[in-house]
Amino acid sequence: MEISLCDPVLGENEKNALCSVIDSRWLTMGDRVASFENAFAHLHDVEHAVAVNSCTAGLHLALLALDISAGDEVLVPSLTFVATVNAVLYVGAKPVFVDVAALDRPHISLEDAKIKCTNKTKAIIVMHYGGYLVDTFKWRNFAERNGLFIIEDAAHAPGTGDVGRWSDISVYSFFSNKNMTTGEGGMVISRRGILIDRIKRMRSHGMTTLTLERHRGHAHSYDVTMLGYNYRMDELRAAIGLIQLERLAQWNDRRRDLTLLYRQQLADSFPDCTVPFGNDHKTAAHLMPILLPDGVDRNIVMNKLRDSGIQTSIHYPPAHRFEYYRNLFPDTHLPTTESFADRELSLPLHPSLSKSKIIYIVKKLSQCI
Ligand SMILES: *Cc1c(COP(=O)(O)O)cnc(C)c1O
Repeated sequence: MEISLCDPVLGENEKNALCSVIDSRWLTMGDRVASFENAFAHLHDVEHAVAVNSCTAGLHLALLALDISAGDEVLVPSLTFVATVNAVLYVGAKPVFVDVAALDRPHISLEDAKIKCTNKTKAIIVMHYGGYLVDTFKWRNFAERNGLFIIEDAAHAPGTGDVGRWSDISVYSFFSNKNMTTGEGGMVISRRGILIDRIKRMRSHGMTTLTLERHRGHAHSYDVTMLGYNYRMDELRAAIGLIQLERLAQWNDRRRDLTLLYRQQLADSFPDCTVPFGNDHKTAAHLMPILLPDGVDRNIVMNKLRDSGIQTSIHYPPAHRFEYYRNLFPDTHLPTTESFADRELSLPLHPSLSKSKIIYIVKKLSQCI
């Protein structure tokens, strides 16, 4: 038996969608990208979305669109995928690491953010860890009092609650281990049209007209009005994204169901482990994180589970502990982030996991403790 940590759901519909793009002989910046953007925007109750080739590119564009640059500071969690933090360095600004609130609430801490906010702080990036939504409304008040922008790294939380409602810009990932995938890919949404216009232009070399408009004869020339990049999504990915998006709500429901079963099983068989967040916390259930009891050797547990065919992982080795960031910011100490990361174990979670496998996983886990 092999139980993988995550497993994208892909099938005939995605294959057919790819074939029809190839038959159309129009591979990039076409109708499918536009339809995917519209459908994604509609689902998140905003007017516009911009498809990009990764969440990392989207975070970079978000910071650029907000004019964050050298001399500015951005508050970031360290308990995140390193791309969240890297994007701040891309624009020459300084990431300032903020601890998480608590072991059972591993979201960026408002108390620690207040301490680390200076007159150089320009923005805050919140990350919906594991799909569990940060209270962005609460952060909105903090941001307004301090004149900060809020960016949501929503890589874990597509199609959930009011993500995108209270922030300036929200960025999503469609990497292959996320709740929906296009292989590589991402999306940026914002309620502020002016930011969307800038992001659209920067995504495509800073050019004033789009390839599709020129192709259709609506425009014959273009100007370059800002430094741009090539962060575009292609039609092949958008075609897969349109199919995946139709099933996102159903997959997220399935993930939440499986999470509740995990919670019941863990409470019964392994009461010493901590499961972050409450049963009622709004979530896209991207990850199934648990904290092993203090003193348990996680490597032994992971190896034993692997011997039983169960793949596990750690989310995340904190960014500030990586060599590159240790060298840049040697004196960073985030006690709650560090003890969370030392004890965290992510169990398999994906829509095609069966309930009997979850019961098996929890049984094996409690046996090896
Ligand atoms: C996956 C992920 C990213 C990066 O997404 P890409 O699309 O691979 O660039 C950024 N932040 C978080 C929290 C992620 O999980």
